[in-house]
Amino acid sequence: MHTDLVAALDIGGTKIAGALVDGHGRILLRAQRPTPAQEHGDIVIRAVEAVLGELTASPLWSRVTAVGIGSAGPVDASAGTVSPVNVPGWRDFPLVERVRAVTDGLPVELIGDGVAITAAEHWQGAARGHDNALCMVVSTGVGGGLVLGGKLHPGPTGNSGHIGHISVDLDGDLCPCGSRGCVERIASGPNIARRAIEGGWQPGPEGDASAAAVAAAARAGDPVATASFERAAQALAAGIAATATLVEIDIAVIGGGVGKAGEVLFAPLRAALRDYATLSFVQRLTVTPAQMGTDAGLVGAASAALSRRPTNTVVVG
Ligand SMILES: [Zn+2]
Repeated sequence: MHTDLVAALDIGGTKIAGALVDGHGRILLRAQRPTPAQEHGDIVIRAVEAVLGELTASPLWSRVTAVGIGSAGPVDASAGTVSPVNVPGWRDFPLVERVRAVTDGLPVELIGDGVAITAAEHWQGAARGHDNALCMVVSTGVGGGLVLGGKLHPGPTGNSGHIGHISVDLDGDLCPCGSRGCVERIASGPNIARRAIEGGWQPGPEGDASAAAVAAAARAGDPVATASFERAAQALAAGIAATATLVEIDIAVIGGGVGKAGEVLFAPLRAALRDYATLSFVQRLTVTPAQMGTDAGLVGAASAALSRRPTNTVVVG
């Protein structure tokens, strides 16, 4: 059957990816540019326009009915603006208006990148079939998004589910966001590595001091590396338990580089959840690794564009 297409944009600090996507989430055409993240905002939007130019030049473009954007945040979906932390040239940048100007005035849906990944995991990944889910990206930062009552819950500005900046340590270390003891300040990849090094862990002979190297050391039995992952797991568990208690999620999906650490992360995470998720209605909560790969941002942005259109719905299957 002939299905309409949507255009998807995934805008991050290192690359700007675009795609034409069908109602089954299949990517029919791709375009990509590096993000000139340290350049003036006009240069950054030119890279976005170059990606869109490749898409609009395709004969498939005539079938495109909407545009979905997942962007590094913060975003303000109500205003159509973005202020990505890692793209200083964009502050309250009118991204929706600029994209609409080069896409024939099509409707444009803007969501945060954590919300986009959540949409993708709910549509085709680990949260599929779950009506109430928290999906997280744990890597350089910690982001996330919520599915509530079977629907993506972006919130008024598109940032809902931003679990990385929930405080789980009231007098903890200052976080770049201005708060203290945030989940991200304890559980992000750089903080896992920092804590291990402070505890005396020695990076390997190649000098790899990444969270992945700490995970490898933990798997080999290094107690300091293990303890750093246990602390990260504890912070994640406290944040997940708080979320579950507030809105009754039944699954938490964890992606990103740290999410690939396997049982080094998930074993202490499940143990810590038993400590923090104690009320009867949250005890069935499960945690699981993400399933979507590097296209999650694009697929999620496409999902947002598809599901907001009143005349069409996302095809499940
Ligand atoms: Zn914070």
